[in-house]
Amino acid sequence: MKVYGYGTQSAEQDLSPVVFERQDPKDGEVAIKITHCGVCHSDLHQARNDWGNTMYPCVPGHEIVGVVTTVGKGVEKFKEGDRVGVGCMIDSCLDCPSCESGEENYCRGPKGCTLTYNGTKNPDGSNTYGGYSTDIVVREEFVLRVPEALDPASAGPIMCAGITVYAPMKHWNLEEGQTLGVAGIGGLGHMAVAIGKALGARVVAFTRSEDKREEILSMGADEVVISTDAEAMEQAAQSLDLLINTIPVPHDLEPYIQLMKPDSTIVVVGNMIKFPEFSPGPLVFNRISVAGSLIGGIEETQEVLDLCAKHQITPNVKMIEMDQVNEVFETLAAGNDGDFRHVIDIDKFRESARSLNGSATKVEAPSR
Ligand code: NDP
Ligand code: ZN
Repeated sequence: MKVYGYGTQSAEQDLSPVVFERQDPKDGEVAIKITHCGVCHSDLHQARNDWGNTMYPCVPGHEIVGVVTTVGKGVEKFKEGDRVGVGCMIDSCLDCPSCESGEENYCRGPKGCTLTYNGTKNPDGSNTYGGYSTDIVVREEFVLRVPEALDPASAGPIMCAGITVYAPMKHWNLEEGQTLGVAGIGGLGHMAVAIGKALGARVVAFTRSEDKREEILSMGADEVVISTDAEAMEQAAQSLDLLINTIPVPHDLEPYIQLMKPDSTIVVVGNMIKFPEFSPGPLVFNRISVAGSLIGGIEETQEVLDLCAKHQITPNVKMIEMDQVNEVFETLAAGNDGDFRHVIDIDKFRESARSLNGSATKVEAPSR
C-alpha cells in the first residue's frame, strides 16, 4: 500500500513529506489507518541522531492510534473497524525468558525487540518507519486495544510516555503513601504525576518552571518544587522513596541524589547521553540506587491504558498538523516549557497527502 508520511534523510534536515510502500498484512498481521500520533522527545533525539544510532531515512512516531482496516489470516484479537494503538515496539522473538515473562522490551533474542521506527526486523534487517505516516502494519501481538472511555487523541501518549513512567513504579514497588518524585515535567513527567497519584503515592514534581506550578498541581501533584531553587531543593532533602527522572539532556545528578531517602531508587528514563561526574559517597552512605528503565512490555502497556481509562487520566494534549512538527521539535529542544504533549492530526494529513504526489520524496520500503 502507498503510505505518505513525514521523515528526514539526515540529522541536519527538517522533516518533510515522504512517500513509500508498506507490505499488505501477512498472516497474523493487522493493517491500521493511523488517525493520531503523539510527538515524543525521543522522536527528536532520533531524527537528530542524538544517540548516534539513527538509520536514515527516519520516519519517527511511536504513540500511534488508529483504526483497523484489514487483518491477515489467523488474526484473532482484532477486526476491521477496531480502535487500536501501537507503542514503541512492533516485534520481538517471543521466545526468550524476557518475552515469556511479558517483557518484550528487554527481548534477549538475537535482535532484541524491533522498535516501531529505527528498528530492524528479521530477517532482512532493514529500517522500520513509524507513525508520522498514514498507515502501519503490525503483527497482532504488538497491537493494543484502545479502551472506549479514552479519547483517541489522548490514548497515544499513554503507550510511550505513560508506560515508561508506569513500568518503574511497578518494578520498584511504589506503595500507597510512599513519596514519588518526578524530575522534568514534560510529556513523560506530567503522566508520571497523574499515574503516581492514581497508584496512591504522594507526588512531588520537580520543575524549573514556576509557570507550570498551577497546572502541575491541577494534575494531582501534592507539591511542586522549583529545581533551580537551591533552598527549596535543600528543604526536600531525603524525602523521596522513588524518583523518576525524565530530564532529556545531560545534567548534574547530585541535587537529585540529595532528595533520596536511605534505600531508595532514582530511575533514569530521560537522558541517555551522558551524566557529568557525581560523587558516589551519598549513594554509599544511604544505600541509594541509580537505575534505568526502558518503556514496558505489551501486557503492562495494555494495563496502563486500562488504568488511565478507569481513572480518566488523560495527557494534556495540544493537537497540531503534520507540517507543524518541525516547530514542535524546536519547542522540545528548547526545554518544552509550555505544552505537555503534542499530537499530530493524521486524519487531516491524510486529506492533504493526496495533493503531495510529486513533492513527497519517494523513499525505500521499510521492513514494516
Ligand atoms: P519533554 O521535552 O516533553 O519533557 C522533558 C522535560 O524535562 C521538560 O518539560 C522540562 O521540564 C525538562 N527539561 C527539558 N530540558 C531540560 C534541561 N536542559 N535541563 C533540565 N530540565 C530540562 O520530553 P519527554 O517527556 O517526551 O521525554 C523525556 C525524555 O525521556 C527524553 O529524553 C526521551 O527520549 C526519553 N524517553 C525515554 C523512554 C524510555 O523508555 N526510557 C521512553 C520515552 C521517552 P521542566 O520544565 O518541568 O523543568
Ligand atoms: Zn516516546
